[in-house]
Formats: sequence, C-alpha cells, structure tokens
Amino acid sequence: AGALERREFALVYQPIASLDSNRIAGFEALVRWQHPGLGLIAPLEFIPIAEKTGFIVPLGAWVLREACRQLKAWQDSVPGASELWISVNLSSLQFRSSTLVDDITEVLVECHLEPRSLVLELTEGIAMENPAAVRALLLQLRAIGVRVSVDDFGTGHSSLAYLRQFPLHSLKVDRSFVRGIEGNRDMASIVSAVTTMAQQLGLRVVAEGIEKEEQIGLLRALGCEYGQGYLFSRPIHADAA
Ligand code: C2E
Ligand code: MG
Ligand code: MG
Repeated sequence: AGALERREFALVYQPIASLDSNRIAGFEALVRWQHPGLGLIAPLEFIPIAEKTGFIVPLGAWVLREACRQLKAWQDSVPGASELWISVNLSSLQFRSSTLVDDITEVLVECHLEPRSLVLELTEGIAMENPAAVRALLLQLRAIGVRVSVDDFGTGHSSLAYLRQFPLHSLKVDRSFVRGIEGNRDMASIVSAVTTMAQQLGLRVVAEGIEKEEQIGLLRALGCEYGQGYLFSRPIHADAA
C-alpha cells in the first residue's frame, strides 16, 4: 500500500479510434507499476494480487480520479478534444463496493467532468455473478450518466438473456477474435455474429488488439465502429498521448 503513497503507479493511455474516420474517439487508461527494484510491472502480474488483498480498491480509486483529471485537462486544453471519452477498467471488488456510485459521482464533480465522458469497463464475469444486483447497479450508473462497456467480450460466459436486460453502452470484442481475422473465416464469423447481436441490442462495438492494417477494413465491414490496438498506438504516457 506504501507504493501508492510513494507514487509508484502511473497511467498510460491507449487511443480508441473510430474505424470510419480514423480519428481518436477516446482513450483507455491502463495502470503501470514502476517498482523501484523490479522495474516496470505489467498489470496482469499485480492486479490479481491487488484483488486478493483488497488493495485494488484504493488503487482503483486512484486510477479513476487520475484518468478523469487527465481527460478533463485534455478536453480543456486540446482543440477538438471535448468529445473524447476515457475508459477505465473496474475490478469486481470495486464493482461490489456499496459506495461505487457515490465515489464516481464525487470524482466527476471534483474533476468537473461530464458523466458521459466516462466509460467503465467491466468483464463478463462481473456481470454474470449476480445478474439482478448488477442490473440494479447498472441502472444507477445510467441514471448518473456514465457509460458501461463489457470488456474482453467472448472470453467469459455471458448469458445473452441477461445482456439484453443490462443497460450497457458498448461491447469490446476480445483480441483473441481479432487476431487472425484476416486469414480465418471462423474468426470473422464470430466477430460478425457479435456485432450483429450488438447492433440489435443498440450497443457500440470496439475491436481490441488490432495489429494489422488489413484487419481494419474487415472489422469495419463486419460492423465494428471502433478499434484499439498496437497498429494505432501502444499505451503511452499522457504527454505523448
Ligand atoms: P484490457 O482492459 O483488456 O486492456 C487491453 C490490454 O491489451 C492492455 O494490456 C493493452 O496494452 C493490450 N493491447 C492493446 N492493444 C494490443 C494489441 O494490438 N496487441 C496485443 N497483444 N495487446 C494489446 P495491459 O495494459 O497489460 O493490461 C492488461 C489488463 O490488465 C487489462 O486488460 C485490464 O484487464 C487490466 N488492467 C489494466 N489497468 C487496470 C486498472 O487500472 N484497473 C483494473 N481493474 N484492471 C486493469
Ligand atoms: Mg479494458
Ligand atoms: Mg480487453
């Protein structure tokens, strides 16, 4: 926990592009741990531990505040940036916190950020744990005006019946389905089925892990509106973003 006070965590930002215009539509905030002895540690190595110990709650609160502060700074200082959104990953422990809605409201007010500029990314697992409670919470989040996206879609087990009942904004198609889409018809059919379903539910689709130019045209043709991946940019520090 001392690491938070010692300011060893930093956020990097990866652009999310509109596949039609190739313009940046938003950024996903991703946390990094700059450990004094071990160097840069990737989130997949420390997030699971932070979840087990409960440290993810203060860490996640810091990530949310820092990401909102940064987006507001861009919106205020960069021409054309007022419509950008920021996507922030929420862990299940944060999502189950009884003060989540109040905490988010407080950060938005403090940062003077419009609620619709914030997109919360949840994994499918979180959404399916307790569908009735999740639906109630999602309705509260919609009421305060923030948006919710299902991350890594296709890797967990979502029930389509529940998905239909949840007030969601978008689905992020997991990069395992985007990888190889140019040479693999099965992958393309999966992405096509997901986007067709999403469109029918009124959800936006973001494709993750775009690494090749050919994938853009295909994804666009399949109905994906947005994309994110190393082809556009790796996650980068705020000044570079
Ligand atoms: P995620 O939310 O699905 O984030 C996307 C991950 O894919 C990022 O890894 C990103 O760097 C990587 N990525 C993006 N484009 C490409 C690509 O073209 N190819 C490949 N191979 N990878 C790509 P990262 O930053 O290592 O984060 C991993 C996971 O850690 C995230 O997956 C998210 O689940 C979690 N995470 C990161 N930051 C936070 C946070 O602040 N809070 C919580 N709760 N989880 C976080
Ligand atoms: Mg994410
Ligand atoms: Mg993802």
